[in-house]
Amino acid sequence: MNDKRPPPEYWLEDTKDNGIPYARINDLFGDDETITAEQIATIEDRTSLQIRFSSQEMPEPMADKGETLNPEYLAMTDRPTWSRTGGWVLAGAWDNEDGEITLMYARPKGNRGMKSATACQHENFIAQVDVNRLRKGEGDPVTDYSADVRIKCADCGLAFRFMGLECGNNRFEPKVSVDATELRIPIEPDYVHEILGISNIAGNA
Ligand SMILES: [Zn+2]
Repeated sequence: MNDKRPPPEYWLEDTKDNGIPYARINDLFGDDETITAEQIATIEDRTSLQIRFSSQEMPEPMADKGETLNPEYLAMTDRPTWSRTGGWVLAGAWDNEDGEITLMYARPKGNRGMKSATACQHENFIAQVDVNRLRKGEGDPVTDYSADVRIKCADCGLAFRFMGLECGNNRFEPKVSVDATELRIPIEPDYVHEILGISNIAGNA
């Protein structure tokens, strides 16, 4: 691995500025008419981008006049539904031999929360614990404590759900948030050991 490789955003930069996106990544494809899946995988790896293509019908006026793609026609071209979410950037567009418009989309992959969650193996995690001191009302003494736990995949950002618990808040039993991505556990200071003089084996290890 080369640590000095440019960030994926570098490859997404539009380098032509003529109204038709032409991201720098296009320079890596060469002049071949056809692009193999293998080439795409290599380029994805090199740029830390995920690449996806879509073919759309040529806008009618463009087909009628037999013209090449221009910004006006590109604006009239349909976009795939999936491109509207998930951080996809239109990185290139051209009219192809089949009389259609090819759209090339790309987005950064990896640990920016942009990686497709379904493609991710969820190998690394971020766990967050918030400890709360609870009072009956403002100015009242602290009577209870709780720990709120959240876990998400560090690579794709997908939250994990805590299973087997009801949702809500309870002073005596663990509960979860409505979407089950937050575990709410009542906790208490371990006075029992202090008062009874029971040695805390784990704590003394
Ligand atoms: Zn993941």
